[in-house]
Amino acid sequence: MDLKEILEGLRDCPCGKRHHFDTEVVEIGSGLVHRTGEILAAAGFPARILAVADKNTLAASEGLMQSLEKSGFDVKLKLFENCIRAGVEQVEELREESRGVSGVLAVGTGSIGDLCRVVSYRENLELAIFGTAPSMDGFASDTAPIIENDFKLTRQAKQPKVIIADTKILAAAPNELKAAGFGDMVGKFTAIADWKIANILTGEYYCERIAKLTMEGLKRVAEQADRLRLNDEAAAASVMEGLVMSGLAMMLAGSSRPASGGEHVLSHFWECKKLVAKRWPEYHGKKVGVATVIINSLYRRLASEHESIEPTPDRTDWDAVKAAYGPELVEDMMKMNRPTITDEIDPARLKEKWPEIRKIIFETLPSDEELVSLMERAGAATRPEEVNVDGALLEQGLKYHSYMRHRVLLTRLIPMLGLNH
Ligand SMILES: [Zn+2]
Ligand SMILES: [Zn+2]
Repeated sequence: MDLKEILEGLRDCPCGKRHHFDTEVVEIGSGLVHRTGEILAAAGFPARILAVADKNTLAASEGLMQSLEKSGFDVKLKLFENCIRAGVEQVEELREESRGVSGVLAVGTGSIGDLCRVVSYRENLELAIFGTAPSMDGFASDTAPIIENDFKLTRQAKQPKVIIADTKILAAAPNELKAAGFGDMVGKFTAIADWKIANILTGEYYCERIAKLTMEGLKRVAEQADRLRLNDEAAAASVMEGLVMSGLAMMLAGSSRPASGGEHVLSHFWECKKLVAKRWPEYHGKKVGVATVIINSLYRRLASEHESIEPTPDRTDWDAVKAAYGPELVEDMMKMNRPTITDEIDPARLKEKWPEIRKIIFETLPSDEELVSLMERAGAATRPEEVNVDGALLEQGLKYHSYMRHRVLLTRLIPMLGLNH
């Protein structure tokens, strides 16, 4: 990926922000597992490193350790059995492991990347990621979701200096992981819609160029829908590039807005409820994809059924919200609502801006049929039962997810819209 070109395109951006990111090298190509040591050395990566992998990601990356040794790296390996949880306990464990090294190499995706990004930030270590599957968009992000008391919180993380992915490995990744990456990418439709809506309602920072970069990445990923299930290096590379771009966009915007809206929060709600119930939460991007189908349909329905609205002050039934979160999650949720985000929104302004909100929805979101067909072609999950969300959790999530964040989401405004349902 040509990072210089991306930054060049954002010079003197009309949004007024000076855009930059810390990532210096992104190499996505065939056979790069054997050149990883060389690429890291050329990027000036420190010699004493902690490589973090699990048995699956290490097996997928055959040749990686030899490549590092050949280039003179002194590697300490932390090998998890199967790393599918990024919690505070794992962060502490890795902070201990990282004593005495100057750099961290995350070998994998998802939780391994999340953990390494947070640990590198806290211990001030250089970070590189060797991605083994195009499954989510956290590679280049500077925040990471970490689980604490079953609540998923966004933590400050280090943006990697180097991201490397071997398209042979990406293409051979399990279809469920590739499809999860696709699901995470389609989430950008609703994320960008929420970002635009927040901007026109409250003047929250928004950058048109960054939104455009994200949407272009999404478009390239969407074009690969039919080839994703094949062991196809070009398709896997496009999805990886879109996912990396989405992470870079978060850093460029200084928030997760370009990549995460109501669909991500709904997915996090399901995840927290499942963690409380000690159930496997399913892959991030797989859930986000399903949540996107739901939010996309809800937003389009709100826009098409209500040409005008008669907004009221927020009519949230707080007792019902608290009951939905339950004793395990209620305190963390309430922290996000003292004060609550709708305090900033004047019903009169919401009424005045409604026509623009409708326009954003119609222009940004695909039709429900287009979205579902695209995802089905890519083999991505589209129905709640595919991520083990039953009717009760579905209804609860739809109604109450938005209270998990102090952020303007269209779903959070529903109790202000003056609708009777
Ligand atoms: Zn800008
Ligand atoms: Zn995501």
